[in-house]
Amino acid sequence: MRSRTSRGSGPRPVTTYRLGPRSSTTLTLRFAGTLRWPSQGSRPGGSAGCASASPPRGAASGACCMGEGPGRPLSAAHGTAARALRPIRQARAERRPVFAETCAHYLTLTGDLLQTRGALAKIGPPLRTEADREALWQALADGTLSVVSSDHAPKKKDPWGDFREQPYGAPGLETLFIITHDEGVNRGRISLVRLVQVLCENPARIFGLYPKKGTIAVGSDADIVIFDPRREVTIRAENQHSGAGYTLYEGRTVLGWPVMSFQRGHRVLWEGEVVAEPGAGRFLPLLESPPAAPL
Ligand SMILES: [Zn+2]
Repeated sequence: MRSRTSRGSGPRPVTTYRLGPRSSTTLTLRFAGTLRWPSQGSRPGGSAGCASASPPRGAASGACCMGEGPGRPLSAAHGTAARALRPIRQARAERRPVFAETCAHYLTLTGDLLQTRGALAKIGPPLRTEADREALWQALADGTLSVVSSDHAPKKKDPWGDFREQPYGAPGLETLFIITHDEGVNRGRISLVRLVQVLCENPARIFGLYPKKGTIAVGSDADIVIFDPRREVTIRAENQHSGAGYTLYEGRTVLGWPVMSFQRGHRVLWEGEVVAEPGAGRFLPLLESPPAAPL
């Protein structure tokens, strides 16, 4: 588990805790050293949620409690399990600025994929069950989860080699929007407006980039996707641009496909081909403090 805290004398930063795979019962915090959870009993805060012994829920409880102390906004990354949602719901019910994220693969894939794709499906935290998947969709619809991200990690792997030696992660950037749209909007789990909130608006607000990012408005960056909701395409490694050489969605047909996209008004995708120049990215400084209450 790693924590990220933006520094500087500008806007107040948001702190991100990754509820990661190898340290699900240990919170390693930059400002607090290592906190064993819960066996050493060194628990900050006083919420009942702190006492959980369940690893994902314990980590989520711990992160929520840490956010409680100084009143600092907290972003919990990689929510995967139904049982991790309870402390997040509780924190948000208490109007604490806790923002939880999940990834497209936790919404659309399960651990069964390890049987057919081997270590290609080795992701941290791991892919979980059908019940977890449905709970995440519910949490996304009811506002418990605020963000869906790609966690794009296109690693080279030997699918059937020594599993322990293979790195964690899978490509996800290019499928983030299309797979979340197909499973979320096309299947009636979330609205198109909610999809745009969790992919664009909420991340921009939470990380202090709004309204430069996350909205279409005069003065905002023209980051725009032109999307054909009626175009049906089967996802294959050959129609992906990642250097990984595989996709966990191989053979899956989705309804809806991006036609073109723009970054700050410049073309980056045109009729399916990447036309952006390398180095077009820009550092994004915090513009304002993250929200002081749940979105
Ligand atoms: Zn990750």
